Amino acid sequence: MKINQVSDSVHVVAGTNVNWALVGSGSGVTLVDAGYPGDTDDVLKSVREVGHTLDEVSAVLVTHAHLDHIGAIPTLVEKIGMPVYTGGAEVPHARREYLQQITPKEMLRQLTTARGRRWVAQTLMAVRGHMNIKIPFVLSADDVVLPAGLTPIPTPGHTTGHTAYLLPDEGVLFTGDALVTGHPLSCRSGPQILPAVFNHDEAQTLDSAKLLENQPARTIVPGHGPSIQVDQESA
Ligand SMILES: [Zn+2]
Repeated sequence: MKINQVSDSVHVVAGTNVNWALVGSGSGVTLVDAGYPGDTDDVLKSVREVGHTLDEVSAVLVTHAHLDHIGAIPTLVEKIGMPVYTGGAEVPHARREYLQQITPKEMLRQLTTARGRRWVAQTLMAVRGHMNIKIPFVLSADDVVLPAGLTPIPTPGHTTGHTAYLLPDEGVLFTGDALVTGHPLSCRSGPQILPAVFNHDEAQTLDSAKLLENQPARTIVPGHGPSIQVDQESA
C-alpha cells in the first residue's frame, strides 16, 4: 500500500493494482472505492494512517461494483455501519441483480502473455474466494447531499451505472475505471480507457472518457494508475 496526498483533503492509496481515496471533511473522512477483498486490512489501515479513527468514516462512495472497488465494504459496514452510495444506475449492479464483469473464460484468455499471467495470479490472490460479494444495502448517490460536496457524474460504459465523482472546491476528479492512467494489462501509461475486455459497452466508455476530460479538474484520481495533475491551459 502506498499513500499519496494529492490535494488539501485528498489522499490516494495504491493497493493491489487498484486505487481507493480518502477525502477529509471536518472531522470525518469519506472513502471513494474500497479495493479488492484482499486489500481490506490496508483499507482500514489507510484510514488510520491519514489521521482518522474508523468511526470517523462517514460514507463510502463507489464508482462501480467490480470486485476490485468494493472489497472492503462488507468489513467496513460490519465495523462502522456507515452508508454506502453509488450512482443510481449502478445500484442494481451493486445489489447483483445482474453482473457485468470479466468472465472466467475471458480471464483464461489473458494467460497467453507473461503480462496477463502475472495479472491473473495477482487478481486471484486479491479476490481470495470472495467472488460473490454484493452490496444489498447500497443507496443511490443521486438525490442526497454527499460529504465534502462530492458530486456524482454518470459515466456509463465500463459498467452501465459507472459513476465518477468531482470534489469541486479542490478540483479533484475521481474517475474510477471510466478513465485510467495505467493497468497491468495495458502497455502504455497516461490517460486512457481500460482494455476492451473490461468494458461492458466500448462506445459508451469512449464517450464517458471524453466527458471526463472536459471536467473542471486540476487533479485526476483514476481507479488504476497514478493520479495526474491536469494542465489547465491546455485542457
Ligand atoms: Zn477496476
